[in-house]
Amino acid sequence: MDKDKTGKTENRKYSLNQIYFYLTEGCNLRCRHCWIAPKYQGGSNYYPSLSFDLFCSIIKQAKPLGLSGVKLTGGEPLFHPQIREILEEIRANDLRLIVETNGLLCTEGLAREIAACKNPFVSVSLDAANAETHEWMRGVSGCFEATKEGIRNLVKAGLKPQVIMTMARRNKDQIEGIVRLAESLGAGSVKFNILQPTVRGEQMHKRGETLTIGELVELGAWVENSLSDSTDLRLFYDHPAAFRPMSKMFGDSGDGCSTCGILGILGVLADGSYALCGIGMNVPDLVFGEASSDRLKDVWETTDVLNALRSGLTDRLEGICGDCLMKNFCLGSCIAQNYYLSKSLWAPFWFCEEAYKRGLFLETRLRPRS
Ligand code: SF4
Ligand code: SF4
Repeated sequence: MDKDKTGKTENRKYSLNQIYFYLTEGCNLRCRHCWIAPKYQGGSNYYPSLSFDLFCSIIKQAKPLGLSGVKLTGGEPLFHPQIREILEEIRANDLRLIVETNGLLCTEGLAREIAACKNPFVSVSLDAANAETHEWMRGVSGCFEATKEGIRNLVKAGLKPQVIMTMARRNKDQIEGIVRLAESLGAGSVKFNILQPTVRGEQMHKRGETLTIGELVELGAWVENSLSDSTDLRLFYDHPAAFRPMSKMFGDSGDGCSTCGILGILGVLADGSYALCGIGMNVPDLVFGEASSDRLKDVWETTDVLNALRSGLTDRLEGICGDCLMKNFCLGSCIAQNYYLSKSLWAPFWFCEEAYKRGLFLETRLRPRS
């Protein structure tokens, strides 16, 4: 519920635009920075996946609530034993498709099936331009070549996949190398993710394997102001809006402000539970019910956490986010991450808090602080 201009509470319907399906509990990689930490699925071990019947039932219930697209992620979504049927169901329902994959299982045939969906967008994780570093990050030998092959298959199917690199101390010198590799593979863009202190990523932060805020701010300026001029690929450096040049976000050539659209999404975990997003796998407070027994409409309209976010974003954001002039675009960057670290929906984003403490936050992006 929202407050209108007179302060009265207004019953506003929020459209459920997109569902993030975390299709599999297992993953065929064991990345040292993973924020979900699925069980490693190699050899003969097998972990559960979302039931296909439940997937279809959720889609059916979600369409009247406004569903226009789905994101398939994991674990590794292409590991789902019925991934082809899932893609067919997405096509039959004319839903836009986003896939986040490590690329290992992306065969030519599967790539063609993804390409046949509506406005497909695929991102593939690739953390380095050489096997040694990529496989150090991703925990499985041989995965570098397999991932590149997956990207080639997507390109052959007519897609322009996005390469995603998560930046750490070990691979920071390969940022330009990743851009050149992405060019040679035929990718459409490269995104540079900041390694979040969540689950396995939190351990990397504690071990000093991540970059400092100062280094991340410096690299961001270099990527956005210099490296991006050296390539035809679109480069996205995923730091918060306060650190981005206005010209990169707004105007004819701007790419907007990257938020997940938290007020219009819902997560579905591999065990069939509803959650804010994949954070539900490690934070039970952010799991909202079971698809096998709860009606989606009830979950969407009556869950306390979702309604709190609808009424509280962005007025209730605290700390640096509460004072930030970008907050209505950025929405505090990642509520799941903020909650993971603090158990509060309104906690400020760690990166910006830390940058402010170190004098790296632009005062011009803040309302005057007392
Ligand atoms: S980051 Fe992705 S590919 Fe790596 S272990 Fe986690 S879910 Fe699997
Ligand atoms: S201070 Fe908060 S609202 Fe502002 S850019 Fe950073 S994360 Fe976003």
